[in-house]
Amino acid sequence: MAHFPEKGERTPWHVSVLTLFPEMFPGPLGVSLVGQALEAGLWTLATVPIREFGIGRHRAVDDTPAGGGAGMVMRADVLAAAVDHARGAVPDVPLIYLSPRGEPLTQKLAAELAAGPGVMLLAGRFEGVDERVIAARGMREVSIGDYVLSGGEIAAMVLIDAAVRLLPGVIGAAESLGEESFEGGLLEYPQYTKPREFEGRAIPEVLLSGDHKKIAEWRRAEAERITAERRPDLIAGRPAKRPS
Ligand code: SAM
Repeated sequence: MAHFPEKGERTPWHVSVLTLFPEMFPGPLGVSLVGQALEAGLWTLATVPIREFGIGRHRAVDDTPAGGGAGMVMRADVLAAAVDHARGAVPDVPLIYLSPRGEPLTQKLAAELAAGPGVMLLAGRFEGVDERVIAARGMREVSIGDYVLSGGEIAAMVLIDAAVRLLPGVIGAAESLGEESFEGGLLEYPQYTKPREFEGRAIPEVLLSGDHKKIAEWRRAEAERITAERRPDLIAGRPAKRPS
């Protein structure tokens, strides 16, 4: 059952996930950096089992689509009851429905969400959810990419992972965030470590030179080259280069 923060309990970033499959959580969010942050209380996680708000003896959560067609649609009244229950405990977090129709999840959106109090996420199943509950509860729709998953839980995990690693204290060195892909509108430059030579391939000489200015210039040029090759759309959307 859901664990919601007590009044006064320190909860820097709170996540609630409304799902038919609460057993999927924390899953991969319980390991490594994000899992350690969960354990340390830097963020908290509550799952809200939608089935508990289902209708009748069988706790039905879905029904056939109005107008006909394949599959089932999650009911507006059931989802509204689940959202209202969750909202009672955590009223001020943005409510997001993970949906292939939504605005794309970007590093900018992850940072925007990480800067807020947390998120409440609705993971859809079947053919999706009744349109009326999206409007009635003011849900923001967010997509993790142009493909269709079988459910919103993995999409919710992707969003949570991307935001949690940006929370203060989750990643030790601030600079490891500052130079990552998408910061400043560029993909990251190539990284190397030991050994100095691997299967006949050497580490670029400049990285061993100790000349920090040259290294920074090389990395910037490589980031620009890789971005232009792989994601010219990012270059087009970048702010003009500041004079150095
Ligand atoms: N019929 C829907 C459509 O064509 O847009 C797809 C429904 S999908 C099978 C079931 C659920 O998976 C959705 O309600 C949504 O929560 C989730 N989902 C699928 N693809 C997604 C994506 N790219 N981003 C975020 N959530 C996604």
